[in-house]
Amino acid sequence: MVPDPLISRFAPSPTGLLHMGHAFSAVVGWAAAQAAGGQWKLRIEDIDSGRARPEFTAAIHDDLHWLGLAPDGEVEVQSLGRPRHLALLEGLRARGLLYACTCTRADIARAASAPHAGETVPYPGTCRGRTEAPAAPHAWRLDLAATGLPMRQHWHDLATGGQSGMADNGGDPVLQRKDGAIAYHLACVADDARQGVTLVTRGVDLVEATPVQRLLQQVLGFAEAATLHHPLLADDSGRRLAKRDHAATLASLRQSGESGEAVRLQLLQKAAPLLATAGLPISASLPI
Ligand code: GLU
Repeated sequence: MVPDPLISRFAPSPTGLLHMGHAFSAVVGWAAAQAAGGQWKLRIEDIDSGRARPEFTAAIHDDLHWLGLAPDGEVEVQSLGRPRHLALLEGLRARGLLYACTCTRADIARAASAPHAGETVPYPGTCRGRTEAPAAPHAWRLDLAATGLPMRQHWHDLATGGQSGMADNGGDPVLQRKDGAIAYHLACVADDARQGVTLVTRGVDLVEATPVQRLLQQVLGFAEAATLHHPLLADDSGRRLAKRDHAATLASLRQSGESGEAVRLQLLQKAAPLLATAGLPISASLPI
């Protein structure tokens, strides 16, 4: 079901320059909102202070302006939500749902059976039950079993239909890292709720995050947003675009004099069949 009102969002991390894959994601969310007479919000996910850079945030604003995509309402700057994120964490701790974890990546890798290269190792729960903070550096993890919620989460994705996935596919998730940073899952769920997001639009590469994020929405008493996971844009040879492959950045296209409007129209045409499947036909309601 298409949510009503439809409030979608684009939530880039300013850890590099955006490329066409990001632009596609932005266009899908923007067009979904336009099709339903809804709103499209922007959130700068800058909580990884080691990697986020102000110049990349500035480039995100310039790129979206060039594409002609104007976000509705206030832009949410995730790092400014830290007091709110810490309060949520404290609430979970008070409910006995968090434990302190001193494991290193190496500890976790050793505890699991040999993972294949590139596979993430689910956390085996070594520190579960340690509710008091030790002196040693520690992360805080959510004790999934203690929530009493079903690990298998079911939902309907507007693009891919009926979905089901395990909230514990990565083991108990870290909600606060050893360096004190709030982790992605908690910040994302907290800020989707704060921004009133009713439709999470993002690439299928993030679909594994959805079961645990739905569980977090349930634990925190937030409304469960609908999802639309779109396919990733491929390059001419069919390979997925990624920052590390030096895919052409929007900044370089912009600076070379390419028209942002032409790029937006091209991406809208790619997005149109997907949005039609999702019950959000755009041709009648958008000036293409
Ligand atoms: N900030 C994440 C990224 O840029 C996206 C998070 C999301 O859409 O949920 O990969």
